[in-house]
Amino acid sequence: MSTVHTDIVTPAGKVYEGDVHMVCVRSKDGELGILPNHLPIVAPLEIALVRLKHEDEKIVDYVAVHGGFIQVSRKSITILSEAAELKADIDVARAEKAKAEAEEQLNTLHETSEGYEEAHLKLKRSELRLSTAAIDDSIPEA
Ligand code: ATP
Repeated sequence: MSTVHTDIVTPAGKVYEGDVHMVCVRSKDGELGILPNHLPIVAPLEIALVRLKHEDEKIVDYVAVHGGFIQVSRKSITILSEAAELKADIDVARAEKAKAEAEEQLNTLHETSEGYEEAHLKLKRSELRLSTAAIDDSIPEA
């Protein structure tokens, strides 16, 4: 099995760096599972979980990635995003608070109101943080 060097970079710095066997992301066009020596692409990403599978496929790193882009070349993969967190670095209490705030804002806003889209995105980010933090990584992926 071969590997591909993968970085996840945000304005706050490099969140992830590793040589992995497969990178699974949700692009705007759907799920992508990228293996080494993949055709070069650039694709916009959804606010979604990124799974980085290691060579034996049992070890998987989980990163909450809040949109951005993936760039794939023959030699490396780079994910660039405004924000991303490793599962272990997610502050669950903060995400719960952000979720409650976003829900409260959405309750008072109409879909066409100023601030609705922003509150909706905040809700999506907090939900992704909570679902990522809740992954049980003691059970190997099938
Ligand atoms: P909050 O209201 O809690 O700030 P947010 O979704 O508005 O949430 P962002 O603007 O997406 O926050 O992120 C700002 C910075 O804080 C980023 O660097 C992001 O990685 C980090 N961050 C936000 N929420 C969390 C969290 N729950 N755990 C760890 N890091 C977080």
